[in-house]
Amino acid sequence: MAMNKIMVIGAGQMGGGIAQVAAESGLQVVLNDISQDFIDKRLAFIDKLLSKNVAKGRISEEHKADTLARLISSTDLADAADVDFVVEAASENMAIKEKIFRTLDEVARPGVILASNTSSLPITEIAAVTNRPEMVIGMHFMNPVPVMKLVEIIRGIATSDACYQAVEELTVRMGKAPVEVNDYPGFISNRILMPMINEAIYCVFEGVAEPEAIDQVMKLGMNHPMGPLTLADFIGLDTCLAIMEVLHEGFADSKYRPCPLLRKMVKAGWLGKKSGKGFFKYA
Ligand code: NAD
Repeated sequence: MAMNKIMVIGAGQMGGGIAQVAAESGLQVVLNDISQDFIDKRLAFIDKLLSKNVAKGRISEEHKADTLARLISSTDLADAADVDFVVEAASENMAIKEKIFRTLDEVARPGVILASNTSSLPITEIAAVTNRPEMVIGMHFMNPVPVMKLVEIIRGIATSDACYQAVEELTVRMGKAPVEVNDYPGFISNRILMPMINEAIYCVFEGVAEPEAIDQVMKLGMNHPMGPLTLADFIGLDTCLAIMEVLHEGFADSKYRPCPLLRKMVKAGWLGKKSGKGFFKYA
């Protein structure tokens, strides 16, 4: 199916980024959220980002205007009736995603691919609530979407080859680099990243070193651009905990047990950058 018009569900940081990149690559984008206010705020944010790029000479005024003109807002999933592709980037909650996919399956034309940007929830389980599991797939963008090249494309147990090929082509059209992954907890990215972050938190918990020292070792010794504890603060400690729970439960293996200090900090509301305090303090 030719892809000209797509829907992005969720106007949060990920959905907004996906919508921007898709519109910049020439696609018409319907940006859906539960409230018009969320969409308006996200569109204003995209406008600001594009203006910065114009000021830096990276894009033209015309490119900015064309991109903004391709973004349409929607607060009704019924608007998926005339789109060629849907990517969902709503909150990381299985009940929310299942409800969205059930509705999309009723509303979207037969043959339209339904993708999810979930960072950790099983694609196979999301697909199972629809009558088109062969057309359901994971399309996992990285944050911030306009900057990061990688997209993990996750095949659920029933995902067809045609569906995979179409999403791979779309990924390349959006200027991103696709990597094929099968549906197992954490995919590749979080299967490797989160246990490393969790281990760094264990180092704090056990008094091996101070957070600054741990980050310094990984930056200067391993050439990581950012230390694991700073990265955890940026991702959000609640998100890190949720992903560790998915790995722990999904593999039923104690090597993935979340560090007690991570649980304690989340219970305290110390969620990292977004709450002003995590392993480090933020203004
Ligand atoms: P966010 O909280 O910034 O945005 C989520 C948006 O979804 C909100 O605007 C919310 O109003 C909207 N939403 C909730 N229920 C909805 C519904 N029923 N219909 C339409 N919109 C709805 O979250 P985010 O960080 O953008 O994450 C979104 C998804 O992307 C999650 O699945 C997350 O796991 C995944 N993801 C996040 C990151 C990251 O670094 N934040 C990276 C990769 C993938």
